[in-house]
Amino acid sequence: MTIKVAINGYGTIGKRVADAVKPQVDMEVAGVVKRTPTYEARMAVDKGFKFYAADAKYLPDFEAAGIPVAGTAMDLFAEADIVVDCTPKAQGYFEKYKELGVKAMFQGGEKHTMTDLSFNAFTNYDDNLGKDYTRVVSCNTTGLCRTLYPLKKFGIDNVIAVMIRRSADPGDSKRGPINAIEPVLKVPSHHGPDVKTVWEGLNIQTTAVKVPSTIMHMHSNIVTFKGQATSEDVIDAWCKTPRVKLFNAAEGIKSTAEIMEYARDAGQTRSDLFPIAVWEDGAHVVDGKLYYYQAIHQESDVIPDNVDAIRALCNAESDKWKSIEMTDRAMGIFQKEAVYGD
Ligand code: NAD
Repeated sequence: MTIKVAINGYGTIGKRVADAVKPQVDMEVAGVVKRTPTYEARMAVDKGFKFYAADAKYLPDFEAAGIPVAGTAMDLFAEADIVVDCTPKAQGYFEKYKELGVKAMFQGGEKHTMTDLSFNAFTNYDDNLGKDYTRVVSCNTTGLCRTLYPLKKFGIDNVIAVMIRRSADPGDSKRGPINAIEPVLKVPSHHGPDVKTVWEGLNIQTTAVKVPSTIMHMHSNIVTFKGQATSEDVIDAWCKTPRVKLFNAAEGIKSTAEIMEYARDAGQTRSDLFPIAVWEDGAHVVDGKLYYYQAIHQESDVIPDNVDAIRALCNAESDKWKSIEMTDRAMGIFQKEAVYGD
């Protein structure tokens, strides 16, 4: 069976999900939905995606802009197997999905309590098998799960993580700060509790600050182990982990700027970097504690997890590692040195 995937909200995340679903062998993009006739809407049509207006009241706007529309969102949802909702917060679509009886998954900007189930491919794929609704956790939460999961074997006693967050996406001219550093004064920041929605029992505390950068988030993490692990053991574990990529300052990667330059050179669509970037020469175990830095390409790291979540909800693959490998091969991010298994 080919899973028919509707994508609601064709912005930063939605357009990337559409491009990631397209090459998968077991799914197809049934159509994409947008509210406003922007250049992105025109590009979606040019790429061959069937395009739907969020509501009948927007049809004249698309007609005036000369963008061909196949129908309204409800027409698309009625024929889809699953909707990947990539709209901004609180658009009121959940009730509509329930009315139509279509499976749906949301993004990290929504609250866990809306669906009472969240998703990360590494930590809780199995909990999502066959379920009707879920939420793919945020870019920062995904980043924490990706690099902490392979460290489970050393026994994680405690994690303290400081999120240094980009202030806006590169294509967003509305948000800031542009010349200030803004701390989140609530402790823990929402990131630690968010990790626990997909990894019950992990002892993690987080704080966060927003900085005037658009290209990546950075995390400064300290992990206390119950068992024994050396810096080499940790590096070896990450080398074998899909969707984690090691970088070295010794090779000229000193900041997020060089990581993004690497991504531009690597040639993924939009210069995306789907894996989490970890500094190999910045990871040190000292007195039983691991100190490391990682950088998150916020616009793209959650995309492979979205593809896996589609498969889990539609019960199309019960083995998470098979799904992860299938997704990564189709997206061109398969890592031959990685082990696709626990
Ligand atoms: P975005 O603003 O870039 O895109 C949202 C899209 O939804 C826009 O194209 C907009 O036109 C469309 N839209 C708005 N209202 C709509 C409606 N009623 N019906 C249909 N379409 C509508 O937002 P984004 O950054 O892609 O964020 C989407 C979700 O993904 C949020 O929950 C966000 O928290 C989450 N997320 C974002 C990032 C990131 O870095 N941008 C990373 C991870 C998760």
